[in-house]
Amino acid sequence: MKTCDLLVIGGGIVGLTLAREWLIRHPTSKVVVLEKEANSVSHGTGRNSGVVHSGIYYSEGSLRARLCVSGCQQMLDYVAAHDLWIDRCGKLLVPPSESALESMQRLLDRGRANGVDIHRVTGQEALQLEPRVNPQFDQALFVPITSVVNPKEVAERVRLDVLEAGGVIHYKIPAQSIHSRRGTVQTSIGTFEAGTVINAAGLFADQVAKRAGLQTRYRFQPFKGKYWKHKDPSFQMQRLVYPVPDLNLPFLGVHSAHNQAGDVYFGPSSTPVIGRENYQGLQGISFGDGLSLSAALIAKFVQNTNGLRTLAMRELKLMRMRGVCDELSKILTGIEPGHLEQSLVKVGIRSQIFDSTTQHLVNDFVVVPDGRAIHILNAISPAFTASFAFAKHILDEYQQ
Ligand SMILES: Cc1cc2nc3c(=O)[nH]c(=O)nc-3n(C[C@H](O)[C@H](O)[C@H](O)COP(=O)(O)OP(=O)(O)OC[C@H]3O[C@@H](n4cnc5c(N)ncnc54)[C@H](O)[C@@H]3O)c2cc1C
Repeated sequence: MKTCDLLVIGGGIVGLTLAREWLIRHPTSKVVVLEKEANSVSHGTGRNSGVVHSGIYYSEGSLRARLCVSGCQQMLDYVAAHDLWIDRCGKLLVPPSESALESMQRLLDRGRANGVDIHRVTGQEALQLEPRVNPQFDQALFVPITSVVNPKEVAERVRLDVLEAGGVIHYKIPAQSIHSRRGTVQTSIGTFEAGTVINAAGLFADQVAKRAGLQTRYRFQPFKGKYWKHKDPSFQMQRLVYPVPDLNLPFLGVHSAHNQAGDVYFGPSSTPVIGRENYQGLQGISFGDGLSLSAALIAKFVQNTNGLRTLAMRELKLMRMRGVCDELSKILTGIEPGHLEQSLVKVGIRSQIFDSTTQHLVNDFVVVPDGRAIHILNAISPAFTASFAFAKHILDEYQQ
């Protein structure tokens, strides 16, 4: 039996920041991270938009609001302290339809209630900030703090912090069975016994929790996010441009995203899928899991849970490049089907859970302690932005 003080299951950004924070608090302790892949960026951590969100979207007092606002500042400080790449470009939110004007006011109020610097700008001011924007209702919102970083570079720096502080990361070693009360985890390299086990397994967190015997009312519902890349390498954008979202739907809408290499993408879509790692074709669909996810999905579609039928109809339009451009034309000008290609590498899947009691998609981070284990069950966006604050929160609240 191998022993340690903390064992983290999942070496993505959430697991890595937890291991780092623990080692800052307990420098002489023994910390082990188990990661089933060969690196830390195969899933959510390496497949997101790299946007450091400000915290405007989330209900006041929610964990997401609190941890996004403080996590945003901590991420900016970390990136500055380590001289990592950042574009402090700010973000414009443009109403894509007349009905979005009401949501725009709610978003402004929500952002201010969360303590974020957000203000209304005129169409003319929006065009000065980003000439490609389409301020069709002559107004928009601007959030100066929103930035873009390279999520793979951030994760790599945190990984090095963990190793330099004496932590051990085992790649290609999945956690198999877990005993929460004893704090034991079986793997192909032996059994670990830990004072605390943290399940940060992202798309598999609910399955890991289930294998540990945890019974909850939560079910998993993955959503795929596809991106379309602008083919012209000289095409640049000065700001992030997002639609004012439909606040009844759980996603932010198709927006612009750019990266360190200077590529400009548009996305992500929000397509419900039946495989946890179903990035392409039939990849990542397992028979039993696929069947139960399909059955649950059909039920949600029929009941239009969380506006899912509406969302699915909107997603259908994104199957055609013309549909993508029509969606984009509501917030940007001059983007035609011939300019774009669907990215085969930039595809992400959201680890979203669904509450079987309320019949709603869960809108906040969920943390469930059980014996020596702590399960992080809904590390949805903005868990990348929030990761440093999330790690502190979990250790403050749950570490015995
Ligand atoms: C399309 C898309 C765009 C997004 N954009 C943004 C954004 O711009 N800004 C933002 O803040 N957030 C964004 N997010 C959200 C963000 O990417 C995630 O919230 C974040 O990456 C979650 O990190 P994680 O460590 O929990 O997940 P992951 O990176 O998925 O890490 C979990 C790890 O656990 C491992 N694992 C699973 N099972 C086991 C096991 N049994 N044993 C060992 N290891 C296991 C997996 O291999 C994986 O590496 C986006 C998400 C998506 C899908």
